[in-house]
Amino acid sequence: MENDLKSVLSESGFGFKKKFGQNFITDKNLLSSIVSRSGVDENDTVVEIGCGAGTLTKAIAERCKRVIAFEIDTSLKPVLERTLAGADNAEVVFKDFLKVDLEKLEREIGSYCVVANLPYYVTTPLITKILEQSKSCKSLTVMVQEEVAERLCANADTPEYGAITAVIALCASAEIVKRVPRTMFIPRPNVDSAVVKLTVQRGRIPVRDEAFCKKVIHAAFASRRKTLENNLVNVFKITRERARSAMEACGIDSKSRGETLTPEKFAQLSDFLSINMSM
Ligand code: SAM
Repeated sequence: MENDLKSVLSESGFGFKKKFGQNFITDKNLLSSIVSRSGVDENDTVVEIGCGAGTLTKAIAERCKRVIAFEIDTSLKPVLERTLAGADNAEVVFKDFLKVDLEKLEREIGSYCVVANLPYYVTTPLITKILEQSKSCKSLTVMVQEEVAERLCANADTPEYGAITAVIALCASAEIVKRVPRTMFIPRPNVDSAVVKLTVQRGRIPVRDEAFCKKVIHAAFASRRKTLENNLVNVFKITRERARSAMEACGIDSKSRGETLTPEKFAQLSDFLSINMSM
């Protein structure tokens, strides 16, 4: 398959573009395993972000009802016309997914799952866009850099745990479902990858005001060297006493750093702050 694809790419005059994060997968077993780990079946509509030469698109199309694949690079058009010939349930939309009107797309397609080998340079904005704006995405099974995968699935009080981990945990559970060495891509990137499955569960961690809770999480990680108290004081411009009493009310030690708080603790702190303090 690798050689077949290489000849289609060269016959179509395609050149890989680093600026679009183009690292393609050709291995049939790997493609099939990504789709099976996503759990999609013949009743599912799948949105793929960045279909490249269409190898994953084809593997998805074989298992689901419909695939809508977004691709930013229009020079892949002649390649995709050949690789997706006969895949009648797959359609390609040449558009930057970051600019897609998600509300409009969701009105058209109903509920769906995302399956994608994401362009690494926009991994976080793409995941954030869907988790923040989507009303009908059921899950995201995405290939990301291994380091990012570790971050998305980290436990509190570990070096990998960050604001993105806690923000995602509010509305989705995260699990690494497959490790993928760099040797599986063409061209070969400098890092290994992993497939993460995010299962969307709105209100997974109950919180009064999710947007405010995200602000509290980002504040807590504003400076990792500072204590939570200092970060709250600096970011929200509240007095030290107010920050301390909120932390105390939530059973958080005054010397704690943000990264020691579980997502549930962030929700509790955010609820307390939003009720008891005018900010
Ligand atoms: N799915 C293919 C595969 O697995 O072989 C290609 C994956 S490659 C890592 C990422 C693809 O996303 C590239 O084809 C790139 O052109 C495309 N891409 C990059 N930024 C994009 C964006 N903002 N919207 C849609 N596609 C994008």
